[in-house]
Amino acid sequence: MRRVVCPGSFDPVTNGHIDIIGRAARQYDEVVAAVLTNVNKRGLFTVEEKTAMLRECTADMGNVVISQFNGLLVDFCRDNGIGSIIRSLRSVSDFDYELQIAQMNYRLAGVETLFMTANPQYSFLSSSLVREIAQYGGDVSSLVTPNVEQRLREKYKTRGEDG
Ligand code: ADP
Repeated sequence: MRRVVCPGSFDPVTNGHIDIIGRAARQYDEVVAAVLTNVNKRGLFTVEEKTAMLRECTADMGNVVISQFNGLLVDFCRDNGIGSIIRSLRSVSDFDYELQIAQMNYRLAGVETLFMTANPQYSFLSSSLVREIAQYGGDVSSLVTPNVEQRLREKYKTRGEDG
């Protein structure tokens, strides 16, 4: 079984993430989309909310499973029989950062990283921009799925204008 992990913060999952996960699912037997549960990196959504949104967005992808990880990604890979990591490149600045991590992960545990180029339709898209637009009531309907849009609306309503 060829299993690969797509790790990320997914705060929240965007159409760009879904594009990458779907394309990976066509290349591998199983794709594990793994949400980083880093206590020092407090996001807008809880890990449970991020996981639930990912599940909803990938419900029609039969070979995608959603998981969570903490600590080193290579340990998660070893514990789950995963030999490679998929990361996506949107820009040259992504590459600078990703190259170093990929080389370190190979050095630490022999885990390969495969890079997928972002769909140009989504290369400008990031979770942080989505949060910012949603916070000020902007239209994110072409950037995220309806369930995520709804959760963003609810989140900013309960947090108030100070977000
Ligand atoms: P991280 O904090 O680990 O970068 P993200 O949730 O921001 O977590 O990203 C997870 C993965 O999804 C990364 O490989 C990132 O490059 C990719 N990604 C994020 N946004 C997009 C997008 N718009 N198009 C394609 N890939 C994306």
